[in-house]
This record gives sequence, C-alpha cells and structure tokens, in this order.
Amino acid sequence: MTETLRPNTAAEAARPVPFDVERVRRDFPILQQEVNGHPLVYLDNAATTQKPRAVIQALVDYYEGYNSNVHRAAHALSERATQAFEDARDTVGRFLNVADRREIVWTSGVTESINLVAWSWGRANLKAGDRVLVSAMEHHSNIVPWQLVAEPLGATVEPIPVDETGTLDMEAFRALLDERVRMVSVGHVSNALGSINPVEEIIAAAHAVGALTLIDGAQAVGHFPVDVQALGCDFYAVSAHKVFGPTGIGALYGRLALLESMPPWQGGGEMIETVSFAGTTYGGVPHKFEAGTPNIADVIGFGAAIDYLNSLDRAGAQRHEDDLLAYAEERARATEGLRLVGTAQAKTGVMSFLVDGTHPADLGTLLDHQGVAVRTGHHCAQPIMDQFGIPGTVRVSLAFYNTREDIDRLFAALDKARQFF
Ligand SMILES: *Cc1c(COP(=O)(O)O)cnc(C)c1O
Repeated sequence: MTETLRPNTAAEAARPVPFDVERVRRDFPILQQEVNGHPLVYLDNAATTQKPRAVIQALVDYYEGYNSNVHRAAHALSERATQAFEDARDTVGRFLNVADRREIVWTSGVTESINLVAWSWGRANLKAGDRVLVSAMEHHSNIVPWQLVAEPLGATVEPIPVDETGTLDMEAFRALLDERVRMVSVGHVSNALGSINPVEEIIAAAHAVGALTLIDGAQAVGHFPVDVQALGCDFYAVSAHKVFGPTGIGALYGRLALLESMPPWQGGGEMIETVSFAGTTYGGVPHKFEAGTPNIADVIGFGAAIDYLNSLDRAGAQRHEDDLLAYAEERARATEGLRLVGTAQAKTGVMSFLVDGTHPADLGTLLDHQGVAVRTGHHCAQPIMDQFGIPGTVRVSLAFYNTREDIDRLFAALDKARQFF
C-alpha cells in the first residue's frame, strides 16, 4: 500500500511573485553586514548557503513553543512536534517528487546518506569482484564510504574518467560498464567545478547492466528542480544546508522496495518494532533507518527552507543565477593571467580558477580583507585536482541572492589583491 504525500501546504500553493534579487536579499539577515570594513560579498554558497529569516524563525518557534520529543509521547507538545516533523517529510518528498512519503529518510546530510547506502545496501550486497563506479570529480563523501565498505569485501571502487574541461567522459563510462558493476554513484553537479552531469543518461546506462544508481544532489537542488521519478534513480542524497536550511540535516531518497529490502545500519531507539534477547524486530521504512532521537528542530527548519524556496519564482531565480555565472565567466576570460578550471558546456553555480603567480590560499585571504568570501583549496575533491596537476583553486560559488555588483566587487578585489604579488 502506498503512503501518498499529503497535499501542498499554503506556502507551496501561494503564487510566487516575479524574481527580484533586492527583495530576496532582504530575507537574509546575514547579508546585511560589513566584514573587515566592507559590505559582505558572500560567494561561498557551495560550502553552505545562508538562511532566510523564515528558517531561523521556524527554529525559534520550535524551541520557544513546542520543543518535545517526537512519535510516542502522550502530550500536546509532542503531538505538535511530531506533526511538524512528519509534515517536513511530506514537504521534502514533494520537493523531490517521490512516489511515497516513506521514501524520505532523515540523515545528517549527503555524507550520512551515502554512508547509509554503502553500509546497509553495500555491505549486504557487494561481493568479491564487484565494482562500484564513481566519477573522477566526486566529493570525498561519495568516494570514501564506498572504499570503506568495498575493500574488506574484495569489491573495487573505480573512477569514471573526466576530461580536461571537467566533463564526464560518457564513452569511457559506457566502456566501463559490465555485469560486475553493482552501483554507479555520481554527483548531479560538481561542487569543485560546477559541471552538471547527464545523470538521466548515466542512470539508464547503469540500469541496462543491472547496476543501481545513487545521485549526490548536494549542489543540484539549490539551483534547479529535481524529480527523482523522472530521473529514475534508485537513491538521491541532499543536504539541507546547501538549500538554505540548517546544517546537520539532510535526506536520502530511496526507492521504497529497495529501502524495504535493506538491513538497518545503526541500532537504537526509534528504529525497532520489538526488542528482546531472543531477537529484535525492526520498524518499517523509513524509521528502520532513523535510530535515536532525530534532529527534530532542523528537520522542521529543512521543511521551512523548502517552503521558502517554493515561495520564490524559481525559474526567475535560475535565470538570474545563469546570468550571473555567464557574467562572471565573461569577466574572468577578459582577465589576464586568470585560468578557469572547469569549463564544461553544462555548468551551474560554480566558477573555479587560478591566477598566475599567486597561490589560491593567499588570494582567498586578500579577498577576505576586502569583504569578499570565497573558498580556496581542493574542495573535498582531491582526485580531480590531482588529475589537473593543481593543489586547488579559488572557488566562487553563487546563490540566487548574489548580484552583478557582487561579481564586480570580486574582480575589483582581485585586481587589488594582485598588486601584492
Ligand atoms: C557539501 C557536499 C557534500 C557533503 O555534504 P554534507 O552536508 O557535508 O554531508 C557532498 N557532495 C557534494 C557535491 C557537496 O557539495
């Protein structure tokens, strides 16, 4: 029996007004400040996004009004907390267009979502000689959990080649596929390069050889709509803090039949049916995978973040972001001595680069002195940096609340920083 998603909340039903960046910026209190004597220019959104007032208020409302443990208590506050907690599951489920509300499992984020699949599905299913494919530009959290689980079982974790522009080599991918490939786990969007992978094609090709698919959606869902049923993937992982929600909370989408077939990976309260020393039985999906008191406040905050996102004109926001990235890259190409790292045809949100004669970390510090927040280093994607023969990059990463003025400030700050070298 399907447990269908409960209908849209009023927030989702409301009709968004046309996208207006100045209006949207006012929803983010943190953006209205000076850092090191300059108005903040926040360009580190791939590391974490800022939170709108609606999310912060949802956390305050919970802690001030109905903080309580969920699911079993016989009192009003717990009932309210349980309602809000489970409402958020529907909200996130609708956001990803899942078929059944039990297909959303709360985790601490993408890292824990992938670990859940690796330790539960992987440990129960991988055998010696089996292969797990990931792309060469994955985040470490989509490499290391697979290595931890696969190696003791005699299975291998192999990279799908990526070319010098940061584009996945689909021909090489198809050549790697055979019936020993049990799992293909790739990022939807690279956090280091911004490349958008052709996940629909990847999923279809993986399924054709009987492999399962996991998509790391950390950098996708904040930039464009995702429909897991249309994609046809088996698993999809998201982190709330990359979509304007709180840190330390995320979700794993898994196909219901698959989740039902998988063993629990952590034991404790919340995940059991009955416990005895003769043998313990487990709860149903998703609770089987949610051992212990969950992160209630942040689940509610995650739901508020999705409500907020749904209240925006998302198509307008996406056009605005695409325009910003094109503008930033146009200015980058016109800047002498600046080299873009990651020039795939399909990109979103990220501009990584190097500047001749400078080290990324030094540039990052000099930009920060001028109020411009970027990230430098390997961006938790060391293998692709090694392939490119570089220690890291300066990474500018965008959200819909960034402006052309932010990009102008970045390049003015870069010019100034380069005078130090
Ligand atoms: C941020 C990120 C992760 C890890 O997310 P956590 O919230 O730290 O678990 C994984 N993959 C990508 C592509 C990311 O950007």
